[in-house]
Amino acid sequence: MSVPGGQGPPLRIAALAETLAERELAALLVESESDLRYVSGFTGSNGMAILRASGAEEPPLFLTDFRYETQSAQQVAGAFTRRIVTGELLDAAAEALSAGAGRLGFDDRTMSVARHRRLRELLADPWELVPAAGLVERLRLVKEPGEIEQIHAAARLADEAVQQTLAAGLAGRTEREVAIDLEQRMRRLGADGPSFPTIVASGAHGALPHAEPRDVQIPADVLVTIDWGAVLDGYCSDCTRTYATGEGISAQAREVYGVVLAAQTAAVDAVRAGPNGRELDAVARAVIEGAGHGTHFGHGLGHGVGLDVHEPPRLSRTANEDPIEAGSVVTVEPGIYLPGVLGVRIEDLLVVHEDGATALTGLPKELQIVG
Ligand code: ZN
Ligand code: ZN
Repeated sequence: MSVPGGQGPPLRIAALAETLAERELAALLVESESDLRYVSGFTGSNGMAILRASGAEEPPLFLTDFRYETQSAQQVAGAFTRRIVTGELLDAAAEALSAGAGRLGFDDRTMSVARHRRLRELLADPWELVPAAGLVERLRLVKEPGEIEQIHAAARLADEAVQQTLAAGLAGRTEREVAIDLEQRMRRLGADGPSFPTIVASGAHGALPHAEPRDVQIPADVLVTIDWGAVLDGYCSDCTRTYATGEGISAQAREVYGVVLAAQTAAVDAVRAGPNGRELDAVARAVIEGAGHGTHFGHGLGHGVGLDVHEPPRLSRTANEDPIEAGSVVTVEPGIYLPGVLGVRIEDLLVVHEDGATALTGLPKELQIVG
């Protein structure tokens, strides 16, 4: 992971130490892959970090097993004491904490009940286990400039891959062929892989927001929704475009496309630091409701993107009321889904600034005809 001046794990560890102190947590257990990568730089699949509140004497501790001895030596930030563990990381973590006492934060969204019970048994009594999910995610929400550059690079790669895929046409190929082609092109262009299973949904199938590509030929003169993203050096992109496979699409398809485009453009124009996720969702929803399609936009407006393709903040009717912050990276992806008929979704990935937003995709949004 590139670490431009003053950014990366050292700054993040310091920021989390402050957060822990504010919350009167003596230490925090970090286990989830994305959180662990963010605080330590480690990209392996079995690791654990124990972070300490500011003012603590103990340095942060990183635990992994012998398979990752070399990799962890190369990747884990120098601020950590690194320990190669034989056996369970959880046992080693409890042992490392045996001398101390206080409130120990753990990720209650990912830790299983069984592991929680095990940790409670292993830990010395003076430790109190405190649910603390989301502390690292909260910090991840505002991106460093280097992270935004990495997400932008993933988005550019995804743009290039879809243009190559579309050059071979859509009509006559199956949805699955197009999806596989797009994912292979992303890999050839250097992606770690797709950031989620690619969606290619034509005609009435497009009315399913999470449609799985089928072994069905894409006809001429229908709409095709493609939702795809690349992971590049750990960072995700996410984009959706809806294409037409001929000038002969129905008047209804053109009308619905126009409504979604108007809703998407209005919401993009409203994105800046300040409004919350509910308010931004409402901007797009008002346009779609005004066109009589309110009941056909069943999902939220968007979500944050970073090391995970779905992360805070949420932009939806039920999002929390925290203002969207400058430096966050969010999608804006309204859709209209007419069951049994068609679907349209248009999604951009945006960097939020104080006074507006910048799109990280360079693809046009006016309806494109692809043969
Ligand atoms: Zn998407
Ligand atoms: Zn999305």
